[in-house]
Amino acid sequence: MSDGTNRAWLPDLIYVDGRFQSDRGIVCDRSGNITQISENYPNAIRLKGRALLPGLVNAHSHAFQRVIRGRTERRSQNTTDSFWTWREQMYAAANRLEAKDIYAASRMAFLEMALTGITAVGEFHYIHNSPDGSAYSDPNLLAREVIRAAGDVGVRIALLRVAYARAGYEPEANPQQIRFIEESPETYVKHFEQLLDAPELKDGMAWAGVAPHSVRAVPLEYLKTIVTFANERGLRVHMHVAEQPAEVSACIEEYGRSPVALLDTEGLLGSRFTAVHAIHVTPKAIGTMARAGAFVCACPTTERNLGDGVVPVDSYFDAGVRVALGTDSQIQIDLLEDARELEYHLRLQKTARNVLAPPDDASSAALAQRLFDCATINGAASIGFEGGKLEIGAPADFFTVDLDDPSIAGSSPDDLLANIVFSLSRSAVRDVVVGGKQIVENGKHIDKEAIVASFGDLQKRLWS
Ligand SMILES: [Zn+2]
Repeated sequence: MSDGTNRAWLPDLIYVDGRFQSDRGIVCDRSGNITQISENYPNAIRLKGRALLPGLVNAHSHAFQRVIRGRTERRSQNTTDSFWTWREQMYAAANRLEAKDIYAASRMAFLEMALTGITAVGEFHYIHNSPDGSAYSDPNLLAREVIRAAGDVGVRIALLRVAYARAGYEPEANPQQIRFIEESPETYVKHFEQLLDAPELKDGMAWAGVAPHSVRAVPLEYLKTIVTFANERGLRVHMHVAEQPAEVSACIEEYGRSPVALLDTEGLLGSRFTAVHAIHVTPKAIGTMARAGAFVCACPTTERNLGDGVVPVDSYFDAGVRVALGTDSQIQIDLLEDARELEYHLRLQKTARNVLAPPDDASSAALAQRLFDCATINGAASIGFEGGKLEIGAPADFFTVDLDDPSIAGSSPDDLLANIVFSLSRSAVRDVVVGGKQIVENGKHIDKEAIVASFGDLQKRLWS
C-alpha cells in the first residue's frame, strides 16, 4: 500500500490520455500529486473490478440551496411560476440561515458531491451579512464556514466570493437581498483581501476567486473595479450571464448593449472569465466569447428545473468555447447527469441525435469524451487548478466505478466511457480520492451519518 512516502492504486482499467487502459496504476507522493502512471508498482492497492477516472469538477454551486430541495416544486399562489418566483422562495430560506446552518447545509451538499465522484467545487458564495443586513464582525464568517465544510468533507474548493450591489437597473431595493449586499467596490475588495488572509485558504485545497453576481446586481463601475482587481491578482472571475431573457433586456435598456457585448466592449472578458449559464445569447456573442478565450459554465439539471432554457453548446463547441458544468441549485447532485443533459436538451430541441459528437470522429467514445471533458478538465481550468486529468504532476484526484454495477455491466473498454457518461448510476461510485487521501471507500464516507443527522435537524427546524 505504501512505502512511507508514496501511495499507489491498481484498478482493472484507468482513464488516461483519453482512453481506458488496463494493467496500469497510479502512484502519488506525499504532496498528493501523481508521480507515476506505470504497469508495476509494488504494494499497490488493488482495485479489482473497478475503473479509475479523474475526479469530477463542479464549477458552479450554491451549497446552501440544498435546504430548498423538494420545497419549490409546487405552484405559488395566483401566479405563473418562473425563475423569479423560485428566487423569492430561495431568498426566504437564505435569510433564515445562521452561520452554523450554512456549515450544516454546505457539508451536506459537499458530502453528496463527494459520493458522486466530485473532487473539487467552485462555490459561488453570496450570503455575507447577518440577517439584519449588517456585516458580521468578520465579514467572511459565512464564506469561511463554507470553506470549512468542504475541508471537513475532503473536497477542494474555489470560494468564488460574490459581489452584489443592488436589486437591478430600475427595481427598488429588495429587502430579501440585504444579506448579499456590499454597496461599494472598495468594501468588497477590502473584505476579499481579508479572506485571502484566512487560515482556511491553504495547501491548494481552498482558494478564492472574484464573482460579480450578474450585470443586473452589479453596476458597471463597480464591475470594472473588481474585475480589474481580479486581473491584477491573476484570479478567476465567475459571473451569471444571460440566464433569463429579462436580464438581457434590462441590460440593453440600461447600457444599450447585451450582457456579453457590455463585458466585451468594456474589456472585462478574458481567459480567466467564466460566464455561468450564457443561455440567451446571439451567434455574435458566442463568437465574442470564443475570441476572448472565456469559459461557459452550463448547469443543465438546474436550468431544466428553473425553466431557464437550453445552453447552445453546439454553437459554443463549434466556436471553440470551453464548457464546464455546475450543479448550481442542487436540485440534483450528479455531474454526469449534467454532462448527458448538455446533449439531451439539444436532441429534444433539434429532434436529432449525437448533436455534440465531433464531426470527424465516429468512434463510440468521441461524444462521451467531449462531455466528460466538460465535467473534468474544463471545470478545473474554469475554477483555476491543474486537475481534471490523470497525468504526472497533476493532483491525485480520482474516483472509481464498479464495473459490475448493473448500470454499466458488460461494457468493453471501448464503450465504457459512453456507458459511464450516459448511463452510470451514482451507486456505482466506489472510491473517491483527493490529493492522495481517500475520502470515500466502498461507497461510504466516514462522516456520512453525522452529516446527514445534523442536516436533518436543520431541515426540521427550518420547515416544521
Ligand atoms: Zn448560480
